[in-house]
Amino acid sequence: MKRLWCWRCQQEMPMLDEVEFAEVARLYGGAFRTTPPGQHSVNERFAPVTLAYERMTGCVGCHPNAVMHHRISMYGPPCTACGKPLRTPQARYCAACGSTR
Ligand SMILES: [Zn+2]
Ligand SMILES: [Zn+2]
Repeated sequence: MKRLWCWRCQQEMPMLDEVEFAEVARLYGGAFRTTPPGQHSVNERFAPVTLAYERMTGCVGCHPNAVMHHRISMYGPPCTACGKPLRTPQARYCAACGSTR
């Protein structure tokens, strides 16, 4: 786990490394297969994702969809000008301050 600026959430969020992310991804995938459908609300089905994220990061009540984009490897290296991570590893410029790599 590492705290990085999340451009989707517009704040610094705890990001998961590949081992941590694999676990929440498994729970997230499992939530889709929960049967029988309709018996649980969406929130209940995805609760394990939120809880696992909470256990790993201490961040309480994070939306499952937000958890799924808090993966360190989805982001690029920090911008040399402003220090915020580039939005993707392939990004050619920083979307936060506009400076090129
Ligand atoms: Zn986020
Ligand atoms: Zn920048």
